[in-house]
Amino acid sequence: MIVLKFGGTSVGDAEAIARTARIVKSRADQGAIVVVSALAGVTNGLIAIAEQAAKGHLIGALRGVEGLRERHLQQTELLLGSGEECADTCEELSAMIDELAHLAEALATLGDLTPRSLDAITSYGEKMSSIICVPAFRKQGVPAVHVDSCEVMITDSAFSRAEPQPDAIAEACRANVIPLVRDGKVPVMGGFIGSAKGTGITTTLGRGGSDYSASLFGAAVQAEAIEIWTDVDGMLTADPRVVPTAKLIDQIAFDEASELASFGAKVLHPNTIAPAVRLGIPVYVLNSRRPEGKGTKITFEAPKRAVSAIAGKNSVSLVKVGSPRMLLTEGFLRSLFEIFEKHKTSVDVVATSEVSVSLTVDDSSQLETIVSDLRELGDVSVERNRGIVAVVGGAIAEGGEAMARALHAIGDTRVHMLSLSATGINLTLVVNDDQVKPAIKRLHAEFFDGPAT
Ligand code: ADP
Ligand code: ASP
Ligand code: MG
Repeated sequence: MIVLKFGGTSVGDAEAIARTARIVKSRADQGAIVVVSALAGVTNGLIAIAEQAAKGHLIGALRGVEGLRERHLQQTELLLGSGEECADTCEELSAMIDELAHLAEALATLGDLTPRSLDAITSYGEKMSSIICVPAFRKQGVPAVHVDSCEVMITDSAFSRAEPQPDAIAEACRANVIPLVRDGKVPVMGGFIGSAKGTGITTTLGRGGSDYSASLFGAAVQAEAIEIWTDVDGMLTADPRVVPTAKLIDQIAFDEASELASFGAKVLHPNTIAPAVRLGIPVYVLNSRRPEGKGTKITFEAPKRAVSAIAGKNSVSLVKVGSPRMLLTEGFLRSLFEIFEKHKTSVDVVATSEVSVSLTVDDSSQLETIVSDLRELGDVSVERNRGIVAVVGGAIAEGGEAMARALHAIGDTRVHMLSLSATGINLTLVVNDDQVKPAIKRLHAEFFDGPAT
């Protein structure tokens, strides 16, 4: 069995969906399970609808809903032409859009947007795309069957960032997915969405979560491979939007890919690698516009390079806690990290000295309460508008050359913090937010572009 995941641009319109159908057909005899994202841009549109409705701008929200209706019905008609199957699919989509309109009305009345109601609304993107893909795939001769991912992706009830429950997912796959594949069918599911164990209430895995859905399903069915189909040729040496000369990485190790994803390489959701690693399932990143390409293979065995790629992310906060007492206090770090744990905020980069700890957080939504708790431990300062640049390579720490070159390449860029991960594969630099892109460009030029001719 293999799991194929198609991102938003790979199902963005009728033409893209037809292309995707051909890719699925070429894999159907391997026992394919398909996971699809919402049509490109739809999740952003749904969030905007939810926010407008909750602010009481119902007319604007409903206008957004009707825009989605038009787009989905139009692409369905382009794909399926006229006929019964088209009419049935459009009817099903319209009923979903009506539900969405009712939800927007309810939100406007309540005037309050909770993570739970946001999930209820954003789930419609994947619900609709998976409904469209099934008849579109069948039209190309793929024996596609829709499976409601809410019945398979079982999570906890942490809305908008739900934690998947692997045992329950494996059990649901044994009941609802594997028998279909054994029967020669191709199950098609929406990524990103799930439902809370016990209550069945709709949850989501967080932005970009369809990659994670694919790897969780891959692990649950013990797939031979997980293919992430997207709009670039594979994992590249940097984000091509920042560095247009970025090069394809043929093969990369799980841990390097995971670091890159965590430090801003949006091509993979940061959690994608973990379920695959556990069972050693190779993950491929491929371009749905150029299916003949070889893409990137992510596995245990990959060439060990000093630097494999550069990544970066913006809008990070740097928190510094200084405590003269720290030197003498056992358990200081534990108390400090317990505060972050209590507020469910994960820490990315950490550096300590005898009397201070500096760390970065990505999600600053709980920062005010965190800071007030941290004040119990010492003096606290917060620097917002920071960014992180990550230089990732399996052999970066071997010998001093790569690190010296990295530091030389960034020149006079102000570095607020510098850290080398314990595994020695990621050199992270905390810089001013507006220096992230220039630093990525400089580092890429140093390691990949060769001397200018
Ligand atoms: P999808 O909708 O298919 O999930 P995403 O937009 O989430 O696609 O991810 C693909 C995008 O990731 C690319 O268009 C690219 O701009 C960005 N990206 C960032 N870093 C990298 C990288 N190192 N390699 C490839 N793509 C990257
Ligand atoms: N549609 C969701 C998002 O845009 C999930 C995904 O595309 O992976 O975040
Ligand atoms: Mg994505």
